[in-house]
Amino acid sequence: MLAADFAHLERDIRCLEAAGAKILHLDIMDGHFVPNLSFGIPVVEAVRRSTELPLDVHLMLQKPQQYLAAFRRAGADILSVHIEVAPDPRVLFDEIRKLGAIPGLVSNPPTPVEAVLPYVNDCELVLTMSVTPGFGGQTFDVRSLDKIRRIRRVANENILISVDGGIGESTIASAAAAGANLFVAGTALLGKPDIKKQFQLLKQLIVNEND
Ligand code: ZN
Repeated sequence: MLAADFAHLERDIRCLEAAGAKILHLDIMDGHFVPNLSFGIPVVEAVRRSTELPLDVHLMLQKPQQYLAAFRRAGADILSVHIEVAPDPRVLFDEIRKLGAIPGLVSNPPTPVEAVLPYVNDCELVLTMSVTPGFGGQTFDVRSLDKIRRIRRVANENILISVDGGIGESTIASAAAAGANLFVAGTALLGKPDIKKQFQLLKQLIVNEND
């Protein structure tokens, strides 16, 4: 949703729904964990009021534990926390489950995959950042593919293996080949004149890869 036109948030959500999006991904930035700021609780609430789609709330926060309940109340279905600020993320996973939400784990490009691997099957979504988080519209870091491959190797069947950053026509097939099964696309979708057509194109690239 970071690529949305916030003056026409509901219109953009309708377009994504009509195109076939299964989950909406919301990037929350605190100006500390990442140098940038994005949006906060009122915007998550507004998105919640506008759609029935599950909301995947990606917490790029220095202290995610302080905000879990607030984002859950705002309507988050999935709450994803960064390994870089949660050395033992299982404590946060437990808290997220107690709130009735689904826990996810995220790692930044410089973080070795070994930091993530022990927790892959303790949560339901493992997200690999393929750009340095904090800004939209960056290019895809190909080193993330090896991370995804290694996560895929240890992950149970039902784990969502997600990739976030620089996903588009030129990168989505290789992310799928590496084992990703959930793709976060911002500008690659909302930046296009025909969102539905672009969604179909991206989907086709994944299907071709899995054939
Ligand atoms: Zn994100």
